[in-house]
Amino acid sequence: MSELYELGVAEAGELLAKKEISSVELTKAVIDRYHAKNPEIGAYLTFDEEGALADAKAADEVRAACPESDYALLGVPVAIKDLINVKGQPCTCASKILRGYVSPYDATVIKNLKSHGVVCAGRVNMDEFAMGSSTENSGLGVTRNPYDTERVPGGSSGGSAAAVGGNLCIAALGTDTGGSIRQPASFCNCVGLKPSYGRVSRYGVTAFASSLDQVGPMTKSVKDAAILLQALAGKDPMDGTTPDECVPDYVAALEGASMKGVKLGLPKEYFDVKGIDPEVKRITEEAVKKCEAAGAELVEVSLPHTEYAMAVYYIVAPAEASANLARFDGVRYGHRSERSDSVFNLYARSRAEGFGPEVKRRIIMGTYVLSSGYYDAYYGRAQKVRTLIRRDFDEAFRKVDALLTPVAPTPAFRLGEVQDPLTMYLNDLFTIPSALSGNCAASVPAGFTADTKLPVGVQFIGGCYREATLLRICRAFELVRS
Ligand code: GLN
Repeated sequence: MSELYELGVAEAGELLAKKEISSVELTKAVIDRYHAKNPEIGAYLTFDEEGALADAKAADEVRAACPESDYALLGVPVAIKDLINVKGQPCTCASKILRGYVSPYDATVIKNLKSHGVVCAGRVNMDEFAMGSSTENSGLGVTRNPYDTERVPGGSSGGSAAAVGGNLCIAALGTDTGGSIRQPASFCNCVGLKPSYGRVSRYGVTAFASSLDQVGPMTKSVKDAAILLQALAGKDPMDGTTPDECVPDYVAALEGASMKGVKLGLPKEYFDVKGIDPEVKRITEEAVKKCEAAGAELVEVSLPHTEYAMAVYYIVAPAEASANLARFDGVRYGHRSERSDSVFNLYARSRAEGFGPEVKRRIIMGTYVLSSGYYDAYYGRAQKVRTLIRRDFDEAFRKVDALLTPVAPTPAFRLGEVQDPLTMYLNDLFTIPSALSGNCAASVPAGFTADTKLPVGVQFIGGCYREATLLRICRAFELVRS
């Protein structure tokens, strides 16, 4: 048998059900792996080992008391991105401004996972407040790509991706505002699913851009993503953006998955792009061929407003961030400047000392585009263009079951290699439009670059609230990719 820490959710669940392993053994294996590897990879910021072992013990007791029940997640350790509140654990958003902050309550996603008996395995690193594409914007530590430690894991859910890809956990939660689940999943060889906007509650998840943020699973297989989404999805009275929409059986949807008859759209705007790495291009084209050979019908589609997506995102996301981050004022949470002699200085200095440069840049941009006289010209207009982008997707999904595209223009780059913010922003070229439209989308491992042996994923985009179809197609791809 492979090492216990290498297991995915489904495999671990089977061994737990058969009593071949206990949750305590599994959790200990993850903790040992954390001690062995985290100093090099830096996926985790903190790990409450005692708490995790206590939860594992409790899970084993539940199973012993009621062994016949069907538990998909009972006793499985899952790493949590450091902006999701877990009662009694730190929640810093990888920011100095929240250093020392301990969550007073569980986010709904955590409540949901705990009700399934998940063991919260530790807090994983990220770009500060989820702003970035490499985890280099973390105010609290460096995370390295487990496939090449000179390279970034992607971001902003880089700690989640490095923990899954480097087998420092069984699965992880990430968040995606413009690509932060999918791009790091591609860089670290994981499956990363961004659910449709509203599919998963954000109550207790520190807000970056509220009209875009989604929580989703980062896993070692498509089935694991389905198992986790099953526990995460659904209406939450604490988050008004979660509709009554029914939650289908995502795991059952994978049975008999096949590419036969699947209509796969290839948006032309995603394929003739300058600056795309030739290896990413090759791997994506090969993925398309494999899908076709397995029976998928390829359909060329057009999403004509794609070229405006970046500009729209960099108005909408900073605008919302500037409002959301106003609460970090040194009064109620985290860091408070000791050098203040007035209330104004308390706010200004606490924020100046606590926030890193990228967060400040976003707050300044956001405040600017919302300021009086500019609101209509920037934010109002961006919202109108956003509607056009959403309509492009609606139109495409009249003809196809899913879209296939690259995830990011390059494989993982070197730490420190991308200095210019604009170049960094361009990493999300292929993930931002579907974030703006609210569609579900996933990154699935597709292959490795020839020379550098770096993982590269492909993206499948699904219709809104069509996660079952999307996951089924991703599973079909998993079956044909090798
Ligand atoms: N990289 C993008 C940004 O910096 C997306 C981040 C995210 O999805 N959280 O805004």
